[in-house]
Amino acid sequence: MTDKSSHFQNHNVLLVDDSKTVRKIIKDIFISIGFRKDLITECGNPDEALQILEKESFNLITSNMWMSSNLNGIEFLEKIRSSNNQDLQKTPFLFISGEKGIDHKNQAIGKGANGYISKPFVAKNFETYLNKIFSQNLKGETSFSTLAEDETTSIGYKESFQNISGMKVLVVDDSQANLLIIKEVLSSLKLKISESISGEGALKALLSDLPDLILLDITMAGMDGYETCKTIKADKKFSHIPIIFITSLTETKDIIKGLSLGAVDYIIKPFEREEILHRVHNQLVLRKSFIERQVMIEELKDLSEKKDLLINELTELKEQLEVSSKTDPLTNLLNRRGAIELIENEITRFHQQNTPFTLVLSDIDHFKHVNDTYGHDAGDFILKKMGEIFKNNHRKDDKVARWGGEEFLVLLPETEIEDGKYLAEKFREEIEKYELEHNGYEITTTMSFGVSQYGRGSDSLDSCLKIADENLYEAKDSGRNLVVG
Ligand code: GH3
Ligand code: MG
Ligand code: MG
Repeated sequence: MTDKSSHFQNHNVLLVDDSKTVRKIIKDIFISIGFRKDLITECGNPDEALQILEKESFNLITSNMWMSSNLNGIEFLEKIRSSNNQDLQKTPFLFISGEKGIDHKNQAIGKGANGYISKPFVAKNFETYLNKIFSQNLKGETSFSTLAEDETTSIGYKESFQNISGMKVLVVDDSQANLLIIKEVLSSLKLKISESISGEGALKALLSDLPDLILLDITMAGMDGYETCKTIKADKKFSHIPIIFITSLTETKDIIKGLSLGAVDYIIKPFEREEILHRVHNQLVLRKSFIERQVMIEELKDLSEKKDLLINELTELKEQLEVSSKTDPLTNLLNRRGAIELIENEITRFHQQNTPFTLVLSDIDHFKHVNDTYGHDAGDFILKKMGEIFKNNHRKDDKVARWGGEEFLVLLPETEIEDGKYLAEKFREEIEKYELEHNGYEITTTMSFGVSQYGRGSDSLDSCLKIADENLYEAKDSGRNLVVG
């Protein structure tokens, strides 16, 4: 760690890297060796960096080599070194990159970089390195040296390729030599590589196995790369597969033609190993994340379908519960709760439209005797049969309920008491003449009825029921098997 008197403290730095995390790591290192936080400007891509550099000058520019942007680090450096702005042209430029290959370092230095630090970063060496750059720069020189990296001071960051092993790449090139080189370059990515020496062969290969990426040579005997690309992109089964052109045609129009046919990228021959590696890696990472997202979407869809099913089941269950809470299980008629709800509706209608309605309350005569003589099962059997008689004999809009025990209630909408009594009489007659047989026993039964019209001597459900109950009691008292209203 450098003390506050560090000669870096007045240096401003433009830090270019497409990874926010890497930028943070580099920034922390710079601060730790004496750079001031407020003098470090971060930037995610070279295009943006060039715009910043038009307005502001810096003591140091650092850049990554490969970034997800138009320009790679070398191209970015070239723009700076060929700038009309003399100051900018001379600004120290330091590569901070995951690339360790000496080729890259040499290429970078050849293009005018002042230094090249490869990852993993070693904080201590940054200081030595920057001291060197700035002293060189003072002398007006640009030079390059590789510094030993002290692993013990590594801050633990390692830029490595994402794991794309096992992903499938189809390489199409009519030159065996090129196929060999590409396969060798890609070997570190542990991909499943298949190859084809012609466009026709590639199309055939697609029929048996779909790759995650196609590297496609443009100039081939027979069907050329453009034609092959066009055919692949026109087929729905294959159109999603990304294609990178491999071409020795460097004219912009050739590249544009390739891209407009649907290729995602291009690699120019002769090969730059790292270029192939990075471009293939980038596409496969994209493809992998696309596939992962698709799987996630499928899972979500599945979940949402399950959710819909569950909601339907719940809704049905709720409806069933609602119905069963209003139904008597023995007779399947409405129970008292269900009946009260309907009577309350009629009361509302009565008050809004002055529509009359009548209640018929009935009770089986001497039912205790039936239970005592023939057993409880026989009693249940009779209750069911009574329920059926009511069901089979009421009018369309009438509602029958098991009011409780051996009591039934019939709600007669739009009915005056006289008609109610008439209908009750019909029920009474049906019951009386009905011959019941249970376990070989013939059982006859009768019922007594109390009838009450709402609004006639009553102004509430309770009082209307009370009148019906009093009439029923009177029927019992007068000898049973009677209708009183
Ligand atoms: P009344 O003519 O005065 O109405 O005489 P009752 O015997 O019918 O009247 P009571 O109130 O004395 O007896 C009613 C009997 O109904 C008693 C009870 O065990 C029987 N009961 C009530 N609910 C059921 C049921 O669900 N199944 C059976 N089997 N019997 C029931
Ligand atoms: Mg009773
Ligand atoms: Mg009874």
